[in-house]
Amino acid sequence: MTTGLELVNKWIERNKGILSEEEMNGTNFVFGDSLYTIKRSGNRLDVEQSTGKLVIFRDLKQFSDDLTCRICGTEYNNKIDTIRCCTNGDE
Ligand SMILES: [Zn+2]
Repeated sequence: MTTGLELVNKWIERNKGILSEEEMNGTNFVFGDSLYTIKRSGNRLDVEQSTGKLVIFRDLKQFSDDLTCRICGTEYNNKIDTIRCCTNGDE
């Protein structure tokens, strides 16, 4: 099973070269009841996990886009690739 931490690390791998470490620094991720935050320490990125009560108010507009992966935010040209992105693969 893919864990939140694995998804965050995947996201970092995918966005390396697109975003600078400075831009990734402070990015927050929510997986289940856990909140993950990218923290830059020196020249590497750490992922901090905090678990607690979490309430998310989602903007339904962001779900109307079928071509954006809902987990990592990667955009694709077709629906199949979008669905396969994070839900398929190494599970
Ligand atoms: Zn994805």
